[in-house]
Amino acid sequence: MFKSGYITIIGKPNVGKSTLVNALVGEKVSIVSFRPQTTRDRILGIVNGEDYQMMLVDTPGIHKPKNKLSEYMMKNVESSIECVDGLVYVISCDKDLDQNEILEIEKYAKMGTPLIVAINKCDEGTPEAIVSRIDKLKDIKEIKAIMPISAKTKKHVDDLEKELVKFLPEGDMEFSEDEFTDKSTRFIVSEYIREKALKGLSDELPYGVAVVINRFEEMDNGVVNIEADIICEKQAHKAMIIGKGATKIKEISTAARKDIEKLLDQKVFLNIFVKVKENWRDNPNLLNNFGYNKKELD
Ligand code: GDP
Ligand code: MG
Repeated sequence: MFKSGYITIIGKPNVGKSTLVNALVGEKVSIVSFRPQTTRDRILGIVNGEDYQMMLVDTPGIHKPKNKLSEYMMKNVESSIECVDGLVYVISCDKDLDQNEILEIEKYAKMGTPLIVAINKCDEGTPEAIVSRIDKLKDIKEIKAIMPISAKTKKHVDDLEKELVKFLPEGDMEFSEDEFTDKSTRFIVSEYIREKALKGLSDELPYGVAVVINRFEEMDNGVVNIEADIICEKQAHKAMIIGKGATKIKEISTAARKDIEKLLDQKVFLNIFVKVKENWRDNPNLLNNFGYNKKELD
């Protein structure tokens, strides 16, 4: 019997949801950074097992919307929780489990969709930290399992996968076996560039960075020619992204190119421009241009 279904990964920003999706899928589907709110869109990662296909929905962390972009992000989270076959609520060993998280876990666990709590970053947590978290959650009887894992080192990630497969209903394959995401290659490429832009910059730079791919074509010699814009909100940010003597933008570009080459298994020529569009995160038209659907905002 073949099984197929959807599992949504939820939890506070920065607990390691995207890292977990990548670990389960075995490919870099979703970008990761130390910054909260790195993931903006609902991203599907596909795990192809011998007798199952599991679609993982990576969500932006749960937080209070502050602008149109975060409103869009939260709407996406809510719709990803309804009608799925299972939920993983990720908490982390590296910061205290707060009351809010406990209440949320309780709320989701009681909704009826089977829920597993993954205690992530166990590579950095003490056994006591793990035990104390289990202790705080043990009264919520609806939780199917509480599993300590490390998404980064992949410890116990296979155990989690086995538990999740149990939630999947009988069903046919929805995606072909060689697909690992529902997003286009262009989208993934733009995300890789955004990840490097976020990583390479100091903490002062706000999250107002978007990436647009303007050209994506394979040339006769097999090299893929990509042109992209990094859009930021202020002139000062543009200067930061480019860096002294263009050192920063070169670093971003080299790191992104390496990841893209790995993804495409082809040589890549990457040319990045930096542009300023003020307050794009509050402008529905610009959001739409950058791939965040305006309709879902209204
Ligand atoms: P998200 O916001 O929940 O999607 O979190 P990310 O997957 O973007 O990860 C946030 C940060 O935590 C990144 O710096 C990751 O490298 C780090 N991280 C994720 N999983 C682990 C883990 O298992 N152990 C450790 N030590 N760090 C992790
Ligand atoms: Mg994420």
